[in-house]
Amino acid sequence: MSEDTAPKKELAAIKGTRDILPGEVEKWQALEALARSIFERYGFRELRAPIFETTELYKKSTGETSDVVTKEMYTFEDKGGRSLTLRPEYTPSVVRAIVEHRLDLEGAPMRYYFMGPMFRYDKPQKGRYRQFHQIDIEVFGEKDAAVDAEIIEMAHALLGKLGVTGTETLINSVGCRAGRPAYSAALRGAAGLRRNELCADCQRKAETNPLRIFDCKVEACQEVAKSFPSIQDFLCDECREHFARLREDLDVLKIAYRVEPRLVRGLDYYTKTTFEIVTSHLGAQNAILGGGRYDDMMKDFGGPDICGTGFAMGMERVLSVSALTPPVRKMLYLAYLGDEAKKAGLDLARDLRAQGIECLVEYKDRGMKAHFGRANKLGAAWVLIVGENEIKAGRFGLKDMATGRQFEGSREELLALLKS
Ligand code: AMP
Repeated sequence: MSEDTAPKKELAAIKGTRDILPGEVEKWQALEALARSIFERYGFRELRAPIFETTELYKKSTGETSDVVTKEMYTFEDKGGRSLTLRPEYTPSVVRAIVEHRLDLEGAPMRYYFMGPMFRYDKPQKGRYRQFHQIDIEVFGEKDAAVDAEIIEMAHALLGKLGVTGTETLINSVGCRAGRPAYSAALRGAAGLRRNELCADCQRKAETNPLRIFDCKVEACQEVAKSFPSIQDFLCDECREHFARLREDLDVLKIAYRVEPRLVRGLDYYTKTTFEIVTSHLGAQNAILGGGRYDDMMKDFGGPDICGTGFAMGMERVLSVSALTPPVRKMLYLAYLGDEAKKAGLDLARDLRAQGIECLVEYKDRGMKAHFGRANKLGAAWVLIVGENEIKAGRFGLKDMATGRQFEGSREELLALLKS
């Protein structure tokens, strides 16, 4: 687009958002189709929730002290004076939907998936957007470590089909409320000793929620955090057992992993398992997906005491490292010559489409040469010629653009050929 036809700056797309245009969107559609087919094989069903929810929902479930809630939410007041937020993540919506519709009483497995945009006011950079897309997986009501292992394996099944290579699976246990106070106290002590080396934000976190220091992106803070005590030494018996079972089950499923004791993830609600799949091909934003267990979330929300586990995969990120090639489209370009042929073409095109053939007619009166030039440019697989003579004879010419072969036949004969 030339400069004088580009939209004015104030009308351009918002920083941190982007258009997914034809040419690129086919990859998204292929990813979505693949994800759906894999998840459904594991007993998951789609649950679609609204794009915005009450701000309170995220404060209550994502956690008041998390970066997502304190710094990154797109919050606004609607005309009714309610505070609403564009979803920064999906899990709270699923929790709300389960409680609201009492899905837990239905007896169906509470295994849900969803794909769609999320919104976070973060500093845009490569691999980090303000409107980005996630594939989200949720399982509620299954406390066995086997289900944690199974969803990690399911993520790998998808990544394998996408041709993503060079991945590493990191796992950890962040324990539960039984061990958290002692661990927080130990962290507070350790952070206190090196307070001067921490950024202002982490000095505050050292008081309010020292676990969150592990999320800080400042290098000096990450260096200090390496000296902190390991959460693994503070797990209660149940959490230790759960983590041991997770490792055994991952071995059964032949998923290689590395235990990363500093993997606490950015949200307050995690209990027991946390995990991430990272890749060396992504640069600084190296996490393709992250997840874990949130056994207290539903109860804290005021719903039944039902445990949960899941993950969210960044769609922009996974696509940037995938070798996915969308299926080749075979488009038929219908070239009409003259007014009568245009009418016959309209009718013919409808029939072709009804038979499942992608058929493009551009209603611009062109000569034969211009039609072929255009069909070539569009990469059409076939050109169907409809002229006055063809209509009279009831027989049409069809050219296979890849081989250059020409066919001639009745409507039915050509249809049969195209479908073969
Ligand atoms: P989270 O919900 O923060 O655990 O993120 C889960 C996954 O979503 C990450 O591993 C990324 O792949 C992706 N993701 C998170 N935030 C962004 C963002 N701002 N832009 C693009 N992808 C993101």
